[in-house]
Amino acid sequence: MGARRLSDSLWLVDTGSAYDCHVYVADGGSGAALIDCGTGLAAERLLEGIEATGCLDRLSHVLVTHYHADHAGGAAGVRAGRDVRVLASAETAAALGAGDEDRTQVAVARAAGVYPADYRYPACRVDEVVADGARHEVGELSVTVHASPGHCDGHLCFLVDDGDRRALCTGDAIFSGGRVSIQPIPDCSPYLYARTSQRLAELPVDMLLPGHLDLVLTNGSADLARAAESFRRLIPPPNILKADDAEPG
Ligand SMILES: [Zn+2]
Repeated sequence: MGARRLSDSLWLVDTGSAYDCHVYVADGGSGAALIDCGTGLAAERLLEGIEATGCLDRLSHVLVTHYHADHAGGAAGVRAGRDVRVLASAETAAALGAGDEDRTQVAVARAAGVYPADYRYPACRVDEVVADGARHEVGELSVTVHASPGHCDGHLCFLVDDGDRRALCTGDAIFSGGRVSIQPIPDCSPYLYARTSQRLAELPVDMLLPGHLDLVLTNGSADLARAAESFRRLIPPPNILKADDAEPG
């Protein structure tokens, strides 16, 4: 419970919910960013976790990698009553802003048992649409946006640079070991995934902080290279989703 410190500037927040993705806090001193928000099913625990990082009062940005409910559903609860700016891609802004359960595949995922039967996807206004190459200052941190479609439309990765270490928050794009999350949904594209992996593999990265499973705290570039090399041989890398488990994606 609480939060686990990963570096001088980064934390992993424990929401306690198996439905949620990994949620990170980037502490830039005079400002701080939340990177992904979970489903919103554990909204109180999420806020307690951010509080444990000491950043709740200084939270200035919410960065959303993509519109899937396990990453974006908690945004509305964090934004409510706080002076924070939610940043996301145009595709995420449209779907999250409308609470669109079809575009985001929430309805399909709920029917598949990925989310509880009574779960509803909370709409959240996106304050600023960001695109590939955009750069933001979060306090003393530099955050660069990298478009990374493939897992779904409008997916973004965020490169957080504190001047000492570079961390790529990859959402559901690339995972530890160079694994991926390919699902039979309309906006998942192995072709775009391959192109994304080639582009991300060009980034020098210390930490690779994915939305699920293991974190990579050193030499994250090696894991990015593994995914790219597999796609280069026209073989999709290993999928994090296996038939015998139901990891939310
Ligand atoms: Zn996803």
